Amino acid sequence: MVPLTKESVVGFFTKDIKSLDDLFMHGLQDLYYAEKQIMKALPDMIEKATNAQLKAGFEKHLAETEGQIERLRQVFELLDADPKGDKCPAIEGILKEGKELMSEIEGDDVMDVGLIAAAQAVEHYEITRYGALIAWATELGRTDCVPAFKANLAEENATDQTLTAMAERRINPKAQEKPAEKPAKSQAKSTARRSKPKSPARPAAKAKRNGTKKARRRA
Ligand code: FE
Ligand code: FE
Ligand code: FE
Repeated sequence: MVPLTKESVVGFFTKDIKSLDDLFMHGLQDLYYAEKQIMKALPDMIEKATNAQLKAGFEKHLAETEGQIERLRQVFELLDADPKGDKCPAIEGILKEGKELMSEIEGDDVMDVGLIAAAQAVEHYEITRYGALIAWATELGRTDCVPAFKANLAEENATDQTLTAMAERRINPKAQEKPAEKPAKSQAKSTARRSKPKSPARPAAKAKRNGTKKARRRA
């Protein structure tokens, strides 16, 4: 592994990333920075979540994120490099958007739905980045780094799937009740799509798909 050289700083128009090694190190530093930002953002999301299941899910992922940062430190060690973050504008934007959304939402149920969507944007970003790092490490013959990335990726994927399941089965249907209460004509069109799960055909279809046990719990 060739360490990132700073010789390019001398030339005004030269660039820092010249090889796949450089790109790999940049990606690692980017994700290290991103994970640390996520660790800082999660306590606020835990506080804002009202659904007990969602709150617990965020708490679990905060603990996992701490472990992920530790795994990334181990990768730096394998590469004989100091753990160092490189500002990730993408995660800053995703977290900023989530924070802004949270400040605009009124109502616990809608807040939970918004939190899930914001959290999934974070997970999806992480998933793409870990995928790239695994591919690059493999191409560079640094397969010693791959298990750490794969362990982190597995946790991001599991979190994403848990969030999807929560949104579909528990939290979203509850948030949909409120707009449906308003009988105003103008609401009818805008809530038409969201009200769809209330149609009698869907519970039957869901029951068929998920088995009767889940359908009973849902009802
Ligand atoms: Fe993570
Ligand atoms: Fe990034
Ligand atoms: Fe994550």
